[in-house]
Amino acid sequence: MTDRYASFVQSATGRALVKRLGLPDPPRLRRHHPGDPLLAGPALLGAATGGRLAGPIAKILTAAGVELADPAADPSGDTPQRYGALLFDATGITDSTELRQLYDFFHPQARAVLPSGRVIVLGTPPQECPTPREATAQRALEGLVRSIGKEFGRGTTAQLVYVSGADDPAHSAGTITSLESTVRFLLSGRSAYVSGQVIRVGGGAASVPADWDRPLDGQVVLVTGAARGIGAALAKVLARDGAKVVALDIPAAGDALAAVANDIGGTAVQLDLTAPEAPTRLAEHLASRHGRVDVVVHNAGITRDKTLGRMDADRWDQVIDVNLSSQERINDVLLERELIPAGGRIISVSSIAGIAGNRGQTNYATSKAGVIGLVDSLAPALRERGISVNAVAPGFIETRLTARIPLVVREAGRRMNSLAQGGLPVDVAETIGWLAWPASGAVSGNVVRVCGQSLLGA
Ligand code: NAD
Repeated sequence: MTDRYASFVQSATGRALVKRLGLPDPPRLRRHHPGDPLLAGPALLGAATGGRLAGPIAKILTAAGVELADPAADPSGDTPQRYGALLFDATGITDSTELRQLYDFFHPQARAVLPSGRVIVLGTPPQECPTPREATAQRALEGLVRSIGKEFGRGTTAQLVYVSGADDPAHSAGTITSLESTVRFLLSGRSAYVSGQVIRVGGGAASVPADWDRPLDGQVVLVTGAARGIGAALAKVLARDGAKVVALDIPAAGDALAAVANDIGGTAVQLDLTAPEAPTRLAEHLASRHGRVDVVVHNAGITRDKTLGRMDADRWDQVIDVNLSSQERINDVLLERELIPAGGRIISVSSIAGIAGNRGQTNYATSKAGVIGLVDSLAPALRERGISVNAVAPGFIETRLTARIPLVVREAGRRMNSLAQGGLPVDVAETIGWLAWPASGAVSGNVVRVCGQSLLGA
């Protein structure tokens, strides 16, 4: 579905009205196309004294073909520089009095970021800090990043990446490999609708792909609910990135499912995930066709909205079963039969309703909060097997699901975020794609919101 207001705002009349009346001004977001450079301009990299990540980050940026800006090249400041990204290594900050280094770096550049620019702050997970003062200062980074996401505007996004130092005391090649996929994703147009997020990196093994434009080459990926909406976008994005996609949906959606699978050279599986035999049938299909499944994306989901007092038990049961219990049953069988190998991925689709709650959606919000619980409990349990578990929590995404929301509520949902617009199914798909890459093995136990920094549950 289209956002007519956002298109109108891009016209000459629209621009004039927005300015005069102070209306919301949704920017045109930079989205990924294979072969695109990561950024529209040079990156400015700064670091607090004693930081451990500026070196690895500089190497990652150089390897990715990003130009590193050198402010010293024009000390007069006569030619104002514009940046595609500002990155700051804050791992050296060990006390609140040192937070001033953030102000000193960001303040002069606050207006120097190009449209759809990127801000990334890197820190140490507070729970790993050796002193309470360092943990306090590192926790403070979140407030800065979330505020920059709300302030900078024009499609600029801001994220905090906590990088574990525990497994990699030498801050050497290991850090670069663990971090590279996340830095590339966050700088690129793939993360267009992700902002104000705190992402934790560290732990699992990551490998660098031969070609960053095909980061899923040869991976067998299952996508549930693939006949339409976010699932169909997922199938396309993952196939574009090199995956062999197994697209699953209910038999009633068979035609649409076949069209998606044919379009991407994938295979279609017609199966109702809530059927008692679904997990074993699916496991047998994956075993006989592919011998394994590298990535499982639990995307299928339904809503059956009613306020709790008016909700019949069927609505409750169906939503919990499709959105949560069926995921658990499928994970159990695939893991028991060792069909998900080391380096495998389980990625679930939650929702900001699972974080914030939503009137009329007690069943849905319960199921989606349960998905977060699934990530929290499975990620540590599967770490030893080398399998990562993450979720994405979409906000307002332009699909049939959101097209059914009454106009006024829909318009509010669309605009109540830092980017003043709804996201597209492709934005959720690109984020899941990043979590699926073999290069993202060090990203586990995260719930990443794809919501344009929605005010709901913030
Ligand atoms: P959609 O309704 O367009 O697609 C969902 C797909 O899941 C459909 O093709 C449907 O047939 C399939 N499905 C439903 N029950 C199934 C079952 N029992 N077995 C197999 N397949 C089944 O929805 P969407 O908007 O693309 O949402 C995809 C996911 O994203 C869902 O989990 C949804 O809760 C979540 N989400 C969506 C939004 C949004 O704004 N659209 C926001 C937050 C979360």
